Amino acid sequence: MATDNPTDITLLRGDITEQHVDAVVNAANSSLMGGGGVDGAIHRAGGPTILEGCRALRSSEFPEGLPAGRAAATTAGDLPARWVIHTVGPVYSKEEDRSGLLASCFTESLRIAHGLGAGSIAFPAISTGVYRWPVEDAARIAAQAVRTAPESVPDIRFVLFSDRALAAFEEAFAP
Ligand code: ADP
Repeated sequence: MATDNPTDITLLRGDITEQHVDAVVNAANSSLMGGGGVDGAIHRAGGPTILEGCRALRSSEFPEGLPAGRAAATTAGDLPARWVIHTVGPVYSKEEDRSGLLASCFTESLRIAHGLGAGSIAFPAISTGVYRWPVEDAARIAAQAVRTAPESVPDIRFVLFSDRALAAFEEAFAP
């Protein structure tokens, strides 16, 4: 299937904190005060200026926290990137369809990145860790969202932490 955006999409296995890109996407939680998983790894590798940026977001735009499906940027600190775009994935639910919120994490992050003038962006598999989203389903939602995003960037990478996640994304993005 042809993509709707003139975008290069790369899928790779690796650690997102090592990606040389303009924008690294963080699977944050609403508090923006750090956490485990990819969030912890980004704050550890990027240093304290990222948390300072998150505190500034909390005291300005998001006093009650960043809602699920939204995204906001800070400095990338010591990471080999210019910005971290924090987005909050929905917790997986069998009872309630939250796929629109997960798709929104991708489209909102791309919108913020586009607005910053980013040429490249790296996404983790948002919501597939602590938030328990089945990775095959999350990968399909991610593929659909980035292919139809109204605002995008030319170089999009998905940086997957396991062989299983990489296989799921390869399947979801297969032509
Ligand atoms: P969430 O709370 O949105 O589920 P997690 O951080 O718990 O976020 O997990 C999201 C995904 O990120 C998981 O698939 C996890 O394996 C992966 N992950 C964890 N650390 C890294 C890292 N350093 N680089 C890339 N992906 C990572």
